[in-house]
Amino acid sequence: MHNLKIDLGSCVRVYSKNSNCDKCATICPEGAISYKENLPIVSDSCIDCGGCIGVCPTEAISLKNLDTLEFLFGFLESDENLISCKKNIPCLATLSVENLIALALLKSDTELDLGHCLTCPIKEPLYAQIEQHISEANLFLESIESPHRIKTTDIAYEAPPPEEEAPDRRAFLERFTLKGAVKSKAEFEKTVEELEEVAEVTLADSANIRKKRLPNKRKLLFMALKRVEKPQHYHTFMQDELSFISQKSINDACDNCSMCYRICPTGALQTDRRGSKIEFDPLNCVKCALCHDVCEPDAITLVPFSTRELFEPRVHELVNFQVVRCDECANYFSYFGGEKLCPRCKTEEEEAKRLWGIQ
Ligand code: SF4
Ligand code: SF4
Repeated sequence: MHNLKIDLGSCVRVYSKNSNCDKCATICPEGAISYKENLPIVSDSCIDCGGCIGVCPTEAISLKNLDTLEFLFGFLESDENLISCKKNIPCLATLSVENLIALALLKSDTELDLGHCLTCPIKEPLYAQIEQHISEANLFLESIESPHRIKTTDIAYEAPPPEEEAPDRRAFLERFTLKGAVKSKAEFEKTVEELEEVAEVTLADSANIRKKRLPNKRKLLFMALKRVEKPQHYHTFMQDELSFISQKSINDACDNCSMCYRICPTGALQTDRRGSKIEFDPLNCVKCALCHDVCEPDAITLVPFSTRELFEPRVHELVNFQVVRCDECANYFSYFGGEKLCPRCKTEEEEAKRLWGIQ
């Protein structure tokens, strides 16, 4: 039985059926993640490697036996400097680009042990992901003029063999008592229940969807960046160079339908009380692409990202609208000329005209 958990309240596919996010399913070496009615489900072929954790933009995935943030804090506080799949983490692919940047900045002697990667049975596609994350993190560190880089080694750490445990005879015999039988049945039923688990969005998931939340990996990155001196020069990344943050612009096709800022899971896109503008805070963007996926007129585009955003943060006004009251219902709406009718009253008027045969 696997230990993977998907928090549906954080998965962007649950936010909208238009979401095209399939990062977790694409990276899984066992094909254990699929989508049923657009919701991610994990099959029992999952081997708990955690590769999907390293790519999920919203940190929706975790392992029951590994809290990534706790692991990172524990590692930072310890005397340890080696991260190895045979020592302290299921697979190096569990670490996101943001995790790697934070590690390099907060504990510069950290080393990643790649010594097992080339002979690993799940090398495809995880090794490529590990290499890509390291190179992106190093590119980012270079761009902010940090002297630190992600260090790698191929020592192929081997854990000392565990001391052989004597078979637990008492636990074995307990199964044959009445109490033991009840316990085994309860365990079995729980397993069956979990196996039959169908992805279902609960009320708690729905409440989470309404909350705007920044993933822990971003908070840790902010913490690490506070220690970095402002660079002499700012660097500009092209649209596809960074996988975890973005800069955006909105073109004239935008009709202020409000979908993007209502659905953005982190609050990177927002508006004011009257909906008269769309603002964007790049530091809160996790590049989940949900806003692009839900924008019907395809008005949101990626533009180059400058590292200036990290040291002189500011919220960008991407577009503003003339907001007026509707002549019919007096509600505020974005006015693009012509009759002062909000979209709902306009639709109702058109339907009424069609019904009465008036052109
Ligand atoms: S990567 Fe994360 S957000 Fe994307 S589908 Fe998987 S669980 Fe959902
Ligand atoms: S702005 Fe768009 S890409 Fe960035 S976090 Fe919000 S929805 Fe995702």
